[in-house]
Amino acid sequence: MPFRDIVGHERVTTRVARAVARETLPPCMLLTGPGGVGKRLLATAIAQALNCGALRRDASGPALDGCGTCSACRRIASGAYPDVLVLEPGESGAITIDQVREAIEQVGYRPFEGRRRVVIVDDADLLVPAAQNALLKTLEEPPGRSQFLLVTARPDMLLDTVRSRCPCLRLGQLAVDEIAAILTGRGADEQVARPVAAAAGGSVGRAVQMTLRDRQESREAAMGLLRSVSAAPDAKARLAGARDFAAGRGSKRAPAADRRELRERLRALAALLRDVALVAAGAGEPPANADLDGSLRELAAAWTGARAPRAFAAVGEALDAVDRNVSPKVVADWVACRL
Ligand SMILES: [Zn+2]
Repeated sequence: MPFRDIVGHERVTTRVARAVARETLPPCMLLTGPGGVGKRLLATAIAQALNCGALRRDASGPALDGCGTCSACRRIASGAYPDVLVLEPGESGAITIDQVREAIEQVGYRPFEGRRRVVIVDDADLLVPAAQNALLKTLEEPPGRSQFLLVTARPDMLLDTVRSRCPCLRLGQLAVDEIAAILTGRGADEQVARPVAAAAGGSVGRAVQMTLRDRQESREAAMGLLRSVSAAPDAKARLAGARDFAAGRGSKRAPAADRRELRERLRALAALLRDVALVAAGAGEPPANADLDGSLRELAAAWTGARAPRAFAAVGEALDAVDRNVSPKVVADWVACRL
Protein backbone atom coordinates (compact mmCIF):
# COMPACT_ATOMS: atom_id res chain seq x y z
CA MET A 1 0.00 0.00 0.00
CA PRO A 2 1.61 3.30 -1.09
CA PHE A 3 1.87 6.28 1.30
CA ARG A 4 -1.11 8.04 -0.26
CA ASP A 5 -3.43 5.13 0.57
CA ILE A 6 -2.48 4.98 4.25
CA VAL A 7 -5.33 6.45 6.26
CA GLY A 8 -4.26 9.06 8.84
CA HIS A 9 -0.65 9.80 9.87
CA GLU A 10 -0.39 12.35 7.08
CA ARG A 11 2.44 14.35 8.65
CA VAL A 12 4.57 11.27 9.14
CA THR A 13 3.96 9.84 5.66
CA THR A 14 4.66 13.18 4.01
CA ARG A 15 7.92 13.49 5.90
CA VAL A 16 8.98 10.00 4.89
CA ALA A 17 7.95 10.46 1.24
CA ARG A 18 10.06 13.63 1.08
CA ALA A 19 13.02 11.92 2.72
CA VAL A 20 12.77 9.14 0.12
CA ALA A 21 12.82 11.73 -2.69
CA ARG A 22 15.81 13.53 -1.18
CA GLU A 23 17.52 10.26 -0.33
CA THR A 24 17.83 11.39 3.27
CA LEU A 25 15.90 8.58 4.93
CA PRO A 26 18.02 7.29 7.85
CA PRO A 27 19.20 3.75 6.96
CA CYS A 28 17.85 2.34 10.25
CA MET A 29 14.53 3.41 11.68
CA LEU A 30 12.20 2.44 14.45
CA LEU A 31 8.49 2.60 13.59
CA THR A 32 6.53 2.74 16.83
CA GLY A 33 3.00 3.41 18.03
CA PRO A 34 0.04 1.46 19.41
CA GLY A 35 -0.96 -1.89 17.89
CA GLY A 36 -3.06 -1.88 14.74
CA VAL A 37 -2.51 1.71 13.63
CA GLY A 38 -0.57 0.93 10.44
CA LYS A 39 3.11 0.64 11.38
CA ARG A 40 3.66 -2.43 9.22
CA LEU A 41 1.75 -0.80 6.34
CA LEU A 42 4.09 2.18 6.57
CA ALA A 43 7.11 -0.14 6.49
CA THR A 44 5.72 -1.80 3.35
CA ALA A 45 5.05 1.59 1.77
CA ILE A 46 8.66 2.62 2.43
CA ALA A 47 9.93 -0.62 0.87
CA GLN A 48 7.73 0.06 -2.17
CA ALA A 49 8.85 3.68 -2.52
CA LEU A 50 12.47 2.48 -2.42
CA ASN A 51 11.98 -0.19 -5.09
CA CYS A 52 8.95 0.74 -7.22
CA GLY A 53 9.43 0.50 -10.96
CA ALA A 54 7.05 3.37 -11.75
CA LEU A 55 7.52 5.93 -8.98
CA ARG A 56 5.01 8.71 -8.59
CA ARG A 57 6.16 12.21 -7.84
CA ASP A 58 3.88 14.37 -5.75
CA ALA A 59 2.87 17.44 -7.78
CA SER A 60 2.64 19.62 -4.66
CA GLY A 61 6.14 19.01 -3.35
CA PRO A 62 9.29 16.96 -3.31
CA ALA A 63 7.87 13.57 -2.37
CA LEU A 64 8.03 10.14 -3.94
CA ASP A 65 5.57 7.31 -3.60
CA GLY A 66 5.29 3.76 -4.93
CA CYS A 67 2.72 3.17 -7.66
CA GLY A 68 1.19 0.21 -5.81
CA THR A 69 0.54 -1.71 -9.03
CA CYS A 70 3.86 -2.48 -10.73
CA SER A 71 5.39 -5.92 -10.37
CA ALA A 72 7.78 -4.79 -7.60
CA CYS A 73 5.03 -3.05 -5.59
CA ARG A 74 2.72 -6.03 -5.87
CA ARG A 75 5.37 -8.54 -4.87
CA ILE A 76 6.51 -6.38 -1.95
CA ALA A 77 2.91 -6.24 -0.71
CA SER A 78 2.54 -10.01 -0.95
CA GLY A 79 5.92 -10.75 0.65
CA ALA A 80 7.41 -12.26 -2.50
CA TYR A 81 10.07 -9.71 -3.45
CA PRO A 82 13.67 -10.90 -3.12
CA ASP A 83 15.09 -7.58 -1.90
CA VAL A 84 12.59 -7.09 0.91
CA LEU A 85 13.15 -9.39 3.86
CA VAL A 86 10.63 -9.62 6.66
CA LEU A 87 11.74 -11.01 10.02
CA GLU A 88 8.90 -12.14 12.22
CA PRO A 89 8.67 -14.30 15.33
CA GLY A 90 8.54 -17.98 14.47
CA GLU A 91 6.98 -20.84 16.41
CA SER A 92 9.09 -20.06 19.48
CA GLY A 93 7.36 -16.67 19.70
CA ALA A 94 10.72 -14.91 19.32
CA ILE A 95 12.96 -13.63 16.54
CA THR A 96 16.13 -15.68 16.80
CA ILE A 97 19.78 -14.88 16.32
CA ASP A 98 19.87 -17.22 13.29
CA GLN A 99 17.14 -15.22 11.53
CA VAL A 100 19.10 -12.03 12.18
CA ARG A 101 22.41 -13.51 10.99
CA GLU A 102 20.81 -14.72 7.77
CA ALA A 103 19.34 -11.26 7.10
CA ILE A 104 22.67 -9.57 7.82
CA GLU A 105 24.39 -11.89 5.38
CA GLN A 106 21.86 -11.12 2.65
CA VAL A 107 22.05 -7.36 3.00
CA GLY A 108 25.80 -7.66 2.50
CA TYR A 109 25.11 -8.41 -1.20
CA ARG A 110 23.96 -5.97 -3.84
CA PRO A 111 20.20 -5.84 -4.33
CA PHE A 112 19.03 -8.73 -6.47
CA GLU A 113 16.72 -6.73 -8.72
CA GLY A 114 15.65 -3.59 -6.86
CA ARG A 115 17.43 -0.43 -5.77
CA ARG A 116 17.51 -1.17 -2.03
CA ARG A 117 17.64 -4.18 0.21
CA VAL A 118 15.00 -3.59 2.87
CA VAL A 119 14.83 -5.55 6.12
CA ILE A 120 11.56 -5.19 8.01
CA VAL A 121 11.71 -6.56 11.56
CA ASP A 122 8.10 -6.88 12.65
CA ASP A 123 7.41 -7.16 16.37
CA ALA A 124 11.05 -6.13 16.85
CA ASP A 125 10.53 -6.26 20.63
CA LEU A 126 10.49 -10.04 20.22
CA LEU A 127 14.11 -10.10 19.06
CA VAL A 128 15.95 -12.13 21.69
CA PRO A 129 18.70 -10.05 23.36
CA ALA A 130 21.43 -12.03 21.56
CA ALA A 131 19.73 -11.25 18.23
CA GLN A 132 19.59 -7.56 19.13
CA ASN A 133 23.29 -7.64 19.94
CA ALA A 134 23.96 -9.38 16.63
CA LEU A 135 22.14 -6.55 14.85
CA LEU A 136 24.03 -3.76 16.59
CA LYS A 137 27.08 -3.55 14.38
CA THR A 138 24.97 -3.62 11.22
CA LEU A 139 22.70 -0.89 12.57
CA GLU A 140 25.78 1.17 13.32
CA GLU A 141 27.25 0.78 9.85
CA PRO A 142 24.50 -0.47 7.57
CA PRO A 143 25.75 -1.71 4.18
CA GLY A 144 25.17 0.76 1.33
CA ARG A 145 21.79 0.43 -0.36
CA SER A 146 20.24 -1.25 2.68
CA GLN A 147 17.34 -0.06 4.78
CA PHE A 148 16.38 -1.43 8.20
CA LEU A 149 12.88 -0.85 9.58
CA LEU A 150 12.20 -2.06 13.12
CA VAL A 151 8.47 -2.16 13.80
CA THR A 152 7.22 -2.36 17.36
CA ALA A 153 4.47 -1.24 19.71
CA ARG A 154 6.87 -1.71 22.65
CA PRO A 155 10.14 0.08 21.88
CA ASP A 156 10.99 0.04 25.61
CA MET A 157 11.60 -3.73 25.26
CA LEU A 158 14.55 -3.07 22.95
CA LEU A 159 18.10 -2.64 24.23
CA ASP A 160 19.09 1.01 24.69
CA THR A 161 21.98 0.42 22.30
CA VAL A 162 19.55 -0.65 19.53
CA ARG A 163 17.15 2.20 20.18
CA SER A 164 19.89 4.81 20.17
CA ARG A 165 20.98 3.79 16.66
CA CYS A 166 17.52 4.07 15.12
CA PRO A 167 15.71 7.42 14.74
CA CYS A 168 12.11 6.89 15.79
CA LEU A 169 8.99 7.53 13.71
CA ARG A 170 5.97 7.40 15.96
CA LEU A 171 2.46 6.78 14.66
CA GLY A 172 -0.33 7.94 16.97
CA GLN A 173 -3.79 6.51 17.47
CA LEU A 174 -6.18 6.96 14.60
CA ALA A 175 -9.22 9.19 14.97
CA VAL A 176 -12.67 7.62 15.10
CA ASP A 177 -13.51 9.13 11.69
CA GLU A 178 -10.37 7.66 10.12
CA ILE A 179 -11.09 4.18 11.45
CA ALA A 180 -14.74 4.43 10.42
CA ALA A 181 -13.61 5.43 6.91
CA ILE A 182 -11.43 2.33 6.69
CA LEU A 183 -14.26 0.09 7.89
CA THR A 184 -16.78 1.57 5.46
CA GLY A 185 -14.13 1.25 2.73
CA ARG A 186 -14.18 -2.46 3.51
CA GLY A 187 -17.93 -2.58 3.07
CA ALA A 188 -19.14 -1.99 6.64
CA ASP A 189 -22.35 -0.07 7.08
CA GLU A 190 -21.84 3.53 8.30
CA GLN A 191 -24.21 2.88 11.24
CA VAL A 192 -22.09 -0.09 12.30
CA ALA A 193 -18.68 1.35 11.44
CA ARG A 194 -18.84 4.40 13.70
CA PRO A 195 -19.64 2.61 16.97
CA VAL A 196 -17.00 -0.06 16.22
CA ALA A 197 -14.48 2.67 15.43
CA ALA A 198 -15.38 4.50 18.65
CA ALA A 199 -14.79 1.38 20.74
CA ALA A 200 -11.56 0.37 19.03
CA GLY A 201 -9.26 2.65 21.02
CA GLY A 202 -7.59 4.19 17.97
CA SER A 203 -6.59 0.88 16.37
CA VAL A 204 -7.81 -0.23 12.93
CA GLY A 205 -6.42 -3.69 13.65
CA ARG A 206 -8.66 -3.96 16.67
CA ALA A 207 -11.64 -2.49 14.84
CA VAL A 208 -11.36 -5.06 12.09
CA GLN A 209 -10.96 -7.91 14.55
CA MET A 210 -14.01 -6.96 16.50
CA THR A 211 -16.84 -8.82 14.88
CA LEU A 212 -20.20 -7.19 14.84
CA ARG A 213 -21.62 -9.88 17.10
CA ASP A 214 -18.91 -9.42 19.72
CA ARG A 215 -19.35 -5.69 19.60
CA GLN A 216 -23.10 -5.95 19.90
CA GLU A 217 -22.81 -8.22 22.93
CA SER A 218 -20.21 -5.99 24.56
CA ARG A 219 -22.37 -2.97 24.04
CA GLU A 220 -25.46 -4.66 25.45
CA ALA A 221 -23.50 -5.71 28.54
CA ALA A 222 -22.14 -2.17 28.96
CA MET A 223 -25.58 -0.64 28.50
CA GLY A 224 -26.97 -3.10 31.11
CA LEU A 225 -24.37 -1.98 33.63
CA LEU A 226 -24.98 1.70 32.90
CA ARG A 227 -28.71 1.20 33.41
CA SER A 228 -28.30 -0.63 36.70
CA VAL A 229 -25.91 1.93 38.18
CA SER A 230 -27.92 4.89 36.88
CA ALA A 231 -31.18 3.71 38.39
CA ALA A 232 -30.02 1.97 41.58
CA PRO A 233 -26.93 3.46 43.13
CA ASP A 234 -26.81 1.17 46.22
CA ALA A 235 -23.92 -1.29 46.49
CA LYS A 236 -26.04 -4.42 46.22
CA ALA A 237 -27.58 -3.38 42.90
CA ARG A 238 -24.18 -2.29 41.59
CA LEU A 239 -22.62 -5.66 42.40
CA ALA A 240 -25.52 -7.44 40.74
CA GLY A 241 -24.92 -5.31 37.63
CA ALA A 242 -21.22 -6.13 37.84
CA ARG A 243 -21.99 -9.86 37.91
CA ASP A 244 -23.86 -9.67 34.62
CA PHE A 245 -21.24 -7.39 33.14
CA ALA A 246 -18.38 -9.78 33.96
CA ALA A 247 -20.22 -12.95 32.94
CA GLY A 248 -18.55 -14.66 29.99
CA ARG A 249 -20.47 -15.94 27.01
CA GLY A 250 -19.65 -19.59 27.76
CA SER A 251 -19.09 -21.50 30.97
CA LYS A 252 -15.76 -23.04 29.96
CA ARG A 253 -13.93 -19.95 28.81
CA ALA A 254 -10.23 -19.65 29.50
CA PRO A 255 -9.30 -16.72 31.77
CA ALA A 256 -7.51 -14.99 28.87
CA ALA A 257 -10.71 -15.14 26.81
CA ASP A 258 -12.67 -13.72 29.75
CA ARG A 259 -10.17 -10.91 30.04
CA ARG A 260 -10.38 -10.18 26.31
CA GLU A 261 -14.13 -10.08 26.56
CA LEU A 262 -14.10 -7.84 29.64
CA ARG A 263 -11.66 -5.51 27.88
CA GLU A 264 -14.09 -5.18 24.96
CA ARG A 265 -16.99 -4.57 27.34
CA LEU A 266 -15.03 -1.89 29.18
CA ARG A 267 -14.18 -0.21 25.87
CA ALA A 268 -17.87 -0.31 24.92
CA LEU A 269 -18.66 1.19 28.33
CA ALA A 270 -16.15 4.00 27.73
CA ALA A 271 -17.71 4.74 24.33
CA LEU A 272 -21.21 4.82 25.84
CA LEU A 273 -20.08 7.09 28.68
CA ARG A 274 -18.59 9.47 26.15
CA ASP A 275 -21.91 9.50 24.30
CA VAL A 276 -24.00 9.94 27.45
CA ALA A 277 -21.81 12.87 28.51
CA LEU A 278 -22.20 14.36 25.04
CA VAL A 279 -26.00 14.07 25.20
CA ALA A 280 -26.09 15.32 28.83
CA ALA A 281 -24.06 18.39 27.84
CA GLY A 282 -26.50 19.11 25.03
CA ALA A 283 -23.66 19.13 22.49
CA GLY A 284 -24.78 19.26 18.89
CA GLU A 285 -22.30 16.56 17.87
CA PRO A 286 -24.03 13.23 17.10
CA PRO A 287 -23.12 10.36 19.46
CA ALA A 288 -20.95 7.52 18.09
CA ASN A 289 -23.69 5.07 19.10
CA ALA A 290 -26.30 7.09 17.22
CA ASP A 291 -28.63 4.08 16.92
CA LEU A 292 -29.00 4.13 20.74
CA ASP A 293 -29.92 7.80 20.80
CA GLY A 294 -33.22 7.18 22.67
CA SER A 295 -31.58 5.12 25.42
CA LEU A 296 -28.72 7.60 25.74
CA ARG A 297 -31.24 10.40 26.26
CA GLU A 298 -33.04 8.39 28.96
CA LEU A 299 -29.76 7.91 30.82
CA ALA A 300 -28.39 11.43 30.32
CA ALA A 301 -30.14 12.99 33.37
CA ALA A 302 -28.15 10.70 35.69
CA TRP A 303 -24.81 11.62 34.11
CA THR A 304 -24.53 15.37 34.42
CA GLY A 305 -21.65 17.39 35.91
CA ALA A 306 -18.47 15.59 36.86
CA ARG A 307 -20.01 12.12 37.11
CA ALA A 308 -19.41 11.04 33.50
CA PRO A 309 -15.76 12.21 33.31
CA ARG A 310 -15.09 10.54 36.69
CA ALA A 311 -16.68 7.31 35.48
CA PHE A 312 -14.72 7.52 32.25
CA ALA A 313 -11.46 7.76 34.22
CA ALA A 314 -12.50 4.76 36.35
CA VAL A 315 -13.05 2.70 33.19
CA GLY A 316 -9.53 3.64 32.06
CA GLU A 317 -8.15 2.41 35.36
CA ALA A 318 -10.19 -0.79 35.06
CA LEU A 319 -8.68 -1.41 31.60
CA ASP A 320 -5.20 -1.01 33.09
CA ALA A 321 -6.15 -3.50 35.81
CA VAL A 322 -7.30 -6.03 33.19
CA ASP A 323 -3.94 -5.63 31.45
CA ARG A 324 -2.23 -6.29 34.76
CA ASN A 325 -4.12 -9.61 35.00
CA VAL A 326 -6.41 -8.61 37.86
CA SER A 327 -9.34 -11.05 37.94
CA PRO A 328 -12.25 -10.02 35.68
CA LYS A 329 -14.70 -10.34 38.58
CA VAL A 330 -12.68 -8.04 40.83
CA VAL A 331 -12.33 -5.48 38.03
CA ALA A 332 -16.07 -5.58 37.25
CA ASP A 333 -17.03 -5.15 40.93
CA TRP A 334 -14.57 -2.30 41.32
CA VAL A 335 -15.71 -0.42 38.23
CA ALA A 336 -19.41 -0.89 39.06
CA CYS A 337 -18.85 0.78 42.45
CA ARG A 338 -17.02 3.73 40.88
CA LEU A 339 -19.57 4.60 38.20
ZN1 LIG B 1 5.33 0.36 -8.15
